[in-house]
Amino acid sequence: MIDLVPQVCDLVHSEAQKLLYPGAVVVDATMGNGNDTLFLCNCVGEEGKVYGFDIQAEALKNTEQLLSEHHCADRAVLFCVGHETMADYVKEPVDCALFNLGYLPTGDHRITTKKDTTVHALEAALSLLKPGGAVFIALYWGHPGGEEERSAVEAFAQKLSPSCWKVSETSFPNRNKAPLMMIIQKKAER
Ligand code: SAH
Repeated sequence: MIDLVPQVCDLVHSEAQKLLYPGAVVVDATMGNGNDTLFLCNCVGEEGKVYGFDIQAEALKNTEQLLSEHHCADRAVLFCVGHETMADYVKEPVDCALFNLGYLPTGDHRITTKKDTTVHALEAALSLLKPGGAVFIALYWGHPGGEEERSAVEAFAQKLSPSCWKVSETSFPNRNKAPLMMIIQKKAER
């Protein structure tokens, strides 16, 4: 069967890939085990740059190791700080930023992204985007605090001016508390 309804992370990758090119500059706002960071490193190539953020030292270590195993650690700069501070570290316009909200399935489930810092981080990411660039969000919300975070992210997205931003949300309505994918794209300057 040809699977037309992929998992949310695969969907984010296939959509983000449309935007990415060798030499692109991107952000992984929630590194976790580094799967998205590795995907981004492969997409941006040797001339590109990936900025990675996570608050867990373990995430930084696992991501560094994964990138080293795949010989692409040279194109990544990883920070063990909250993504809400990304504008202090990223001083150039970016093509895209990926957010994977919720907890790390293989880690401590009590360490989750939180609505207030997430919204600050989204504001920072939008401020860094190049025209035509986009933020991709895989929004897991089935855990305690997840519904509040989902509401905050949706409220944030709903307030964005349609003259500057294109926003979409993809859901999987017949799965219980399935994650969502949200895309926020900055319109190109006319
Ligand atoms: N993309 C990852 C999964 C990320 S899970 C992968 O492919 O493996 C969510 C991650 O967000 C966790 O690792 C958690 O430590 C991190 N996180 C939570 N709050 C954060 C914050 N304020 N800033 C950056 N990362 C945060």
